[in-house]
Amino acid sequence: MSVSSKVSSSVAPGSAVEPESVLRDDVLAMSAYHVADARGMIKLDAMENPYALPESVRKEIAFVAANAALNRYPDPTGASLQAILKSTMKVPAGVDLILGNGSDELIQVLCTAVAKPNAVILGVEPSFVMYRILARAAGTRYVGVPLQNDFSLDAPALLSAIAEHKPALVFLAYPNNPTGNLFDRGVIEQIIQFAPGIVVVDEAYHVFAQTSFLPDITRFPNLLVMRTLSKFGLAGLRLGFLCGAPQWISQLNKVRLPYNVGVLTQAVAEAVLTHAEVLEDQADQIRNARSAVTTALRSTPGVEVFPSAANFVLFRVPSATAVFDGLVRRGVLIKNLGGANNPLLNNCLRVTVGTEAENRAFLAALSGALQDAKNSHA
Ligand SMILES: *Cc1c(COP(=O)(O)O)cnc(C)c1O
Repeated sequence: MSVSSKVSSSVAPGSAVEPESVLRDDVLAMSAYHVADARGMIKLDAMENPYALPESVRKEIAFVAANAALNRYPDPTGASLQAILKSTMKVPAGVDLILGNGSDELIQVLCTAVAKPNAVILGVEPSFVMYRILARAAGTRYVGVPLQNDFSLDAPALLSAIAEHKPALVFLAYPNNPTGNLFDRGVIEQIIQFAPGIVVVDEAYHVFAQTSFLPDITRFPNLLVMRTLSKFGLAGLRLGFLCGAPQWISQLNKVRLPYNVGVLTQAVAEAVLTHAEVLEDQADQIRNARSAVTTALRSTPGVEVFPSAANFVLFRVPSATAVFDGLVRRGVLIKNLGGANNPLLNNCLRVTVGTEAENRAFLAALSGALQDAKNSHA
């Protein structure tokens, strides 16, 4: 019997190949990253900048998009975008960049690059969930070291976990998501000096915190600093970048897909960054609104508020799920972290700072939702 007749007789046309027989067990066991349906809602769940770009900048975007060479592959390293990022973000001389389709992609590049057999990637809990998801997808073991009750770093626990697991990669979000706080700079420096591998300080919320480890890259050869334009006002564009010594960036570039940042993303990011002051002003408004929301939450009975250096505020209520549902009924979508299986986040909710009108609507809906929850409990 020929090979082809064997194949056609053993595999009936249309017979189903089961994913279970082909895919990795750990992939089958994973659940997909969940994105809530926000249609028709006041959307305060994903740390987006609530403001649109001014008409003049939008016209410029239309112009560069119309003139972009869509028939050509993009510049593989985004050299001209890199130059404008370096000057806008004050990247120190001698530090190189790698661009990503969002910083999520750079987390994936990092995890893939260190994924030797038995490699460990270490982070803190709670923190940004993509570290764990992408570490595991790359086949590495993820170790999450619990934060203290006030969400600060547990230095002795971290140093002993680093000594025990010898992580190839450590992720620290600065400020941290979902807690909003900035970790102690001295403890981070201790971790950088003690770690046997790379330490990535993820500064996704830099524009709201206004403090950075970028100038420290030249002091610490194993330090990489990651940024994104997403929280700055361009979440839809998908552009992140990682800064570090050339010896790291040139290696990481081998794992990056050649054309990962498209022609339109590069052109539009360049156009918008020439008006970075527009986004800076918006961030300024958001920082002021953050203070107002924090103050209002502090004076709301039954609410415990955690201080934030980001564009969101974490707070605790008597019953997170009841309050979350009450907000949804009133047309406001935030993030319920109560089900995150982390006792530190018990009954915690996270609200993104929006426009003044959105924040007012949220605070009014919250009063109603808290009242509902109280009545149903009584
Ligand atoms: C939102 C966020 C990111 C991901 O940003 P993208 O560039 O949109 O992929 C990375 N790190 C932290 C801590 C974040 O909160």
